[in-house]
Amino acid sequence: MQTEEKHPVSLETLTTLCKRRGFIFQSSEIYGGLNGFWDFGPLGTELKNNLRDAWWRDMVRNPPPGPDGEMLDIVGLDSAIIQNPDVWKASGHLSGFNDPMADCKQSKSRYRADHLFVLMPPDAEGTAYAFLEGEENAARKKVQRKAKADPDRYEVKPFPEVASTDLSRIQGPDATEPGTLTEPRQFNLMFKTFIGALSGEGDENTAYLRPETAQGIFINYKNVIDTMRVKLPFGIAQVGKSFRNEVTPRNFIFRSREFEQMEMEWFCHPDEAEKWYNFWVETRLNWWASLGVDLRNLRRREHDEDELAHYSTACADVEYQYGFTAPGFGELEGIAHRGNFDLTQHQESSGTKLEYMIQETGERVLPHVIEPASGLTRGVLVLLNEAYTEEFVPKGDTEGGPIPANPGAQAPEGYETRTVMKFAPRLAPVKVAVFPLLKNRPELVEKAKEIHSELRKIWPVNYDQAGAIGRRYRRQDEIGTPYCVTIDFDSLEDNTVTVRERDSMEQVRVPASELATWLMSKGLSV
Ligand code: ATP
Repeated sequence: MQTEEKHPVSLETLTTLCKRRGFIFQSSEIYGGLNGFWDFGPLGTELKNNLRDAWWRDMVRNPPPGPDGEMLDIVGLDSAIIQNPDVWKASGHLSGFNDPMADCKQSKSRYRADHLFVLMPPDAEGTAYAFLEGEENAARKKVQRKAKADPDRYEVKPFPEVASTDLSRIQGPDATEPGTLTEPRQFNLMFKTFIGALSGEGDENTAYLRPETAQGIFINYKNVIDTMRVKLPFGIAQVGKSFRNEVTPRNFIFRSREFEQMEMEWFCHPDEAEKWYNFWVETRLNWWASLGVDLRNLRRREHDEDELAHYSTACADVEYQYGFTAPGFGELEGIAHRGNFDLTQHQESSGTKLEYMIQETGERVLPHVIEPASGLTRGVLVLLNEAYTEEFVPKGDTEGGPIPANPGAQAPEGYETRTVMKFAPRLAPVKVAVFPLLKNRPELVEKAKEIHSELRKIWPVNYDQAGAIGRRYRRQDEIGTPYCVTIDFDSLEDNTVTVRERDSMEQVRVPASELATWLMSKGLSV
């Protein structure tokens, strides 16, 4: 949990740390990588699984009480990634899941038109400079350097609002001359594949990788009602991979072409949809805060009327202040009031009745749906952003606690910088590290290994005997391990160990026989 006002960490610093410490690697790296795809390393996998499990526990197994204190009923699902293509016709994805894009004829780059902005010069002829959202500063420098003009006199315009007659004087973000950007065109974001070993690549064999997990829920809604004795209102949740052929994948794992989502469809009586919409927006924002995300870095953004899908009556995003959006915010989760659009579409297209009968009154309704849809991989980026901390600590871990520092700042005399990932203990990829004080004393090593093998029955635990204790602490700080346990000569005498807490760096002696219980009492859940 953050107490001081922190300066945002750059994406470059985060990406480097993630690679160096085994959180996230570029996909297919030894073959030169593949744009828009990432591989989760050993620690990233643990972190992502912990976030997924926290969501599942707090949404499915033990959801919060409803607005009137009632118990909520939410069940889980794991539907196939490839579904009957008719699903995507009915949902509107085949015809409507498009992003407008612009190509650059010179650099061969392709941009989402709604992510492009243009610095328009005050005169009608001068060159205008296009830039991607978040890269305005670089574009302003270009104006100074190339046009030798004052960028403050230029007007920022969204690219889709630029007249087509002005295209010839716009220089693309990666171009060296103006006039190479095309007009925005629609681009379908679904990945195609072909079914059957002997199949040709004809239309009749075409299928799609799902671009969201939500439709798998709608097409199983009737199965769930028929088998699970759920009563309206209830939810169906699932976590899994989604694929979008994003035009401009970027900002690390913020926007990738393969990612994971955590989605829940809340089915309710149409008369109560408004109440549930407000409840879920509030609940979801608070959930991210419950994971240790500072509320100052979170905000609720209600969509404007012209942003809403035609069937949706309200939609709000939970936004986070990422390092690369600061001081602005970017989407983390969307909570949409979808009305009965999806069930109506699937009912009509499949010919299967999807109405729900309220037993007490005999009333038949097509439930309305509130959908909290968040990105699991994007959530990992939030956790990494939020956890990343640099601090000044007295050299050699002598006296005094850590002093907050801004990323990249120089340590004052007598101090050194430590990088520490302040993950909430529940999310930390490694929970405990065990060290023998010296690696060349068999009795210390033996006892440390004994304690290590006991603790690893409960948690992911590291064992490290290499180098000075201070260096071993730093290694664990950098991956966010909440507790380090050292076995020293006193341990051999009185069977106690030193436990050092990550954030305060405070040390206490704990009887080895009570270690696991002590750690649990400090918030390490099983
Ligand atoms: P955007 O407008 O940024 O493309 P969206 O509003 O289409 O996103 P949704 O369809 O509402 O996104 O998806 C729900 C969540 O899934 C998003 O809030 C985000 O966390 C995650 N998500 C969507 N697209 C991507 C992606 N390409 N990479 C990583 N996460 C994504």
